Amino acid sequence: MSRIVFVNGEFVPEEEAKVSIFDRGFLMADAVYEVTTVLESKLIAFEGHMVRLARSLGELGMDKPEWMDDLLSIHKKLVSKNNLENGMIYLQVSRGVADRDFAYPASGTPTSLVLFTQAKNPLDNPMYKTGARVITVPDQRWGRRDIKTTQLLYPSMAKMMAKEAGVDDAWLEEDGYINEGTSNNTWIVTKDGKLVTRHLSTSILHGITRKAVLRCAELLQMEVEERPYTKEEAANASEAFFTSASAFVCPVVEIDGHKIGEGVPGNVAAKLREIYLEESMKEAV
Ligand code: PMP
Repeated sequence: MSRIVFVNGEFVPEEEAKVSIFDRGFLMADAVYEVTTVLESKLIAFEGHMVRLARSLGELGMDKPEWMDDLLSIHKKLVSKNNLENGMIYLQVSRGVADRDFAYPASGTPTSLVLFTQAKNPLDNPMYKTGARVITVPDQRWGRRDIKTTQLLYPSMAKMMAKEAGVDDAWLEEDGYINEGTSNNTWIVTKDGKLVTRHLSTSILHGITRKAVLRCAELLQMEVEERPYTKEEAANASEAFFTSASAFVCPVVEIDGHKIGEGVPGNVAAKLREIYLEESMKEAV
């Protein structure tokens, strides 16, 4: 069934949605995005996603879209117009339409805003029961991974490397340490029960779920270390998992062919997933 999408001020059936071939998002990947999860028709961590969107725009000197103050109501209208119970809303802002040039167009050129829904229920993902298997690959992305841009070619290539290796995802390694997954933040649980996740910097995306899971760990009074770790430490950990808005907390059971812990989803990941879902639903809008 055709979706209703939002394009620059209008809600239209997806077949009627049009963006110019001169849009800088299309020509230069000069665009930023957010993906907000919808559970029981409510938006999870909406404010966090909007704060990160504003930061991404600011870091790139991109004007806010004309509808910036209406984003909550646009999200809610998309949920209701598409009868979306469980799924995702994708939002993208590009620097707008201009003749192709490396230099940005003059400020005041309207940015373009598109949003659409995806009806795939994130709760149905079987991977949280089976656990994911990952390989490590070199992190060859650009250096500002803290900005959520649509330049996703290298993460797509890494995902394909994982597929070709017959596993679920790739963990991106740089200078001997794991940065993050292709589209998620990565964590390990040490044999003495500490949670470890890479510290924030320009090397990784500052995940909204990562932040929420850190709060859950605090509620559970778990010890947390935000620091780099190697693939060897991950292979020898008692558990590993990744976090993202659409996967919540997903266990990882194998890295580069080595079983992690018992090679089955661990209790810490399961507990954090449960608390994360509970806490997120309390604050959902
Ligand atoms: N890192 C990368 C590279 C990502 O693409 C994502 C998903 N957007 C994440 C981490 C997780 O971020 P979030 O929890 O905000 O979905």
